[in-house]
Amino acid sequence: MVYNFVKKYIYGFLFDVADLICPPNCLACQKPLDRVHKKHLFCDLCCEKMIVSLWEYCPRCGAIGFLMPGGHSNKDGCFECWQQTFQFSGVTILGKYSELLRLVILRMKHDRDGIISSNMARLFMSVREQELRHGTPDLVVPIPMHFVRRFFRGVNNPIFFAKEIGTELKIPVCLNFLHRTRYTEPQFNLKPNHRFNNVRGAFAFVGRKELLAGKHVLLVDDIMTTGATCNEAARVLREAGAASVRIAVYGRTMKEEKP
Ligand SMILES: [Zn+2]
Ligand SMILES: [Zn+2]
Repeated sequence: MVYNFVKKYIYGFLFDVADLICPPNCLACQKPLDRVHKKHLFCDLCCEKMIVSLWEYCPRCGAIGFLMPGGHSNKDGCFECWQQTFQFSGVTILGKYSELLRLVILRMKHDRDGIISSNMARLFMSVREQELRHGTPDLVVPIPMHFVRRFFRGVNNPIFFAKEIGTELKIPVCLNFLHRTRYTEPQFNLKPNHRFNNVRGAFAFVGRKELLAGKHVLLVDDIMTTGATCNEAARVLREAGAASVRIAVYGRTMKEEKP
């Protein structure tokens, strides 16, 4: 414990010295970051470009720009989702999956150390913590990646995302609750109405049911399109005993955008 304490402060001191000698730049626009941002990779302007206001997206499905009268607080959802039934009770997003946020998420997929992903998770928490706490989650579960895809990519971003949320909210992160039972074709190759069938039966609950029983779960992923993948994972968790499942994602794609 003493070793960890000393290590933390020595590392912190060395990073401070390094920042003074060579100030870090914003990963997106390359402008120098001030010392306030030393724990972030992006400047204020670039952060703003990636974030949508809480009032711009549907809290039921995460879609941006289809709000009905009553806006964000309309419990029926938006014009995109009001006729749909979901296994999850709500969605929290950081922003629209386009332009800068899209580039960052794509870069994240090859960031083996998870530095970008952890940083984005901290950005997410800095603007959405209250929203997440409102759902009173008991535990965090990342959407699992099939081992074939993980082998080729080597990075599973939802794990970094889940760990950061778990640390901030001080709730357990359950990495082994869900398992991908089969390889699924990427959702963007399919028509919207085929996406729900594509992921049907793609997950299994492999954790201890007594740890899930009656719990409110926060399910995290990096991108959400139609919600088919999250919906299937939420169905499995609820069948295994979860009281409710809410979703948190960085980016919400709109219709036919290719991840
Ligand atoms: Zn910038
Ligand atoms: Zn909606």
